[in-house]
Amino acid sequence: MINYGLSRLSSMLASRQISSVELTQLFLERIQRYNPSTNAFITLNEAASLEAAAQADMRLADGNAAPLTGIPIAHKDIFCTEGWRTTCGSKMLENFIAPYDAHIITQCKQAGMVNLGKTNMDEFAMGSSNETSYFGAVSNPWDLAAVPGGSSGGSAAAVAARLAPVATGSDTGGSIRQPAALTGITGLKPTYGVVSRYGMIAFASSLDQAGPMAKSAEDCALLMNVLAGFDARDSTSLERQTEDYTRLLDQPLAGLKIGLPREFFAAGLSDEVARSVEAALDEYRKLGAQTVEISLPNSSLSIPVYYVLAPAEASTNLSRFDGVRYGYRAPNYDDLDDMYEKTRAQGFGAEVKRRIMIGTYVLSHGYYDAYYLQAQKIRRLIAQDFTQAFTQCDVIMGPTTPDTAFNRGEKTDDPVAMYLSDIYTIAVNLAGLPGMSIPCGLDHRNRPTGLQLIGNYFSEAHLLGIAHQFQQATDWHERMPDAFRG
Ligand code: GLN
Repeated sequence: MINYGLSRLSSMLASRQISSVELTQLFLERIQRYNPSTNAFITLNEAASLEAAAQADMRLADGNAAPLTGIPIAHKDIFCTEGWRTTCGSKMLENFIAPYDAHIITQCKQAGMVNLGKTNMDEFAMGSSNETSYFGAVSNPWDLAAVPGGSSGGSAAAVAARLAPVATGSDTGGSIRQPAALTGITGLKPTYGVVSRYGMIAFASSLDQAGPMAKSAEDCALLMNVLAGFDARDSTSLERQTEDYTRLLDQPLAGLKIGLPREFFAAGLSDEVARSVEAALDEYRKLGAQTVEISLPNSSLSIPVYYVLAPAEASTNLSRFDGVRYGYRAPNYDDLDDMYEKTRAQGFGAEVKRRIMIGTYVLSHGYYDAYYLQAQKIRRLIAQDFTQAFTQCDVIMGPTTPDTAFNRGEKTDDPVAMYLSDIYTIAVNLAGLPGMSIPCGLDHRNRPTGLQLIGNYFSEAHLLGIAHQFQQATDWHERMPDAFRG
């Protein structure tokens, strides 16, 4: 049952083959058993989970259940969750109990979903390996010595190890897609503005976007139906007609034009990832698609542009953690300035401090024009590359990451090597486009590879369908790590 998709679990709940309490218990037991080795969860509250499950069971019995009523879900610890500790992976919020729910938490509650727990993440979502978490690194279920990717590494590991049927994540530069690729699961970063950011602790507001992480594209589509929608409390939330994200799952692919960016298949891509991406493209050709070479000429600038803009926004967003309003406060200090300094020196980890310093620098007088403004201009060019590309193809495909999961500690001393993990994902955030990662193979060490799908604005349903067709023809998404079968 741990490998079942959401629609199957949902029909079992509807026909009373299982109750939500039983299903929740099953996953809580797995978490008890496997969290010591994965460290995927930071906070659990079994009583609250079981209470929500009991309520879902009543709703199921009353006959007013929604499609995902009774389904357990793990939430990245970046989403404020009323009454639950919400840490964002930081000492700064080690003991912070959120006083309200993020919009997507409300949406999941209204759908009758059961919160299983809050998942581990890189501190303030800054990282690609989950090693910057104050609550310790997360292990990749496929190989405990390997990282699960980041920053949504806890959610990715939880789904990959089948400790949760589905999870939420957030993606500022790749944090849904990169960990999905490294753990062999499916993840979708929606178009910017489709999912409300209300109550999602801000990292870089113009890039942050929440989305689903699941075993399959079909499950991502079902969760998108819950997460997406207009919310007046987020000024960048888009007011659009609601759509059913499952509606194109069965659409055949004949005639689909897949664009392959030359820049994504160049130096820096590992042979093994290249091979499994090629095999996936062959599968798409068998399904009736054709491939065309395209170019994203400015994409090589996406990492430098991101590491100006994201830290700039982060330095502003993180100024709120000052020891006054909420979160950590240094125990001993001389005066107000000293309290600010000590609080921030003690409350933030090294990577967060590095970003705050870079951000403060690029926004400062004299450097703003040279760095921040230049980066904004290149951001526009990167977005235009995609607009141009989508005149030649319906969807863009390529690798999600340059390599498969690396070992813990392998890149911790070299931030730039770590930043390169997102070389294929970041341009998508800069342009505000939707992107997905789906599993497409295993390397010689049995570590997963991911195929990235990038669509035009608001093409999520189409992307999910294109991914689903591949998953109907292959079984990579059904594979799970041996150590977690029991
Ligand atoms: N790895 C990137 C970073 O460290 C992206 C993180 C994210 O998407 N939240 O900033």
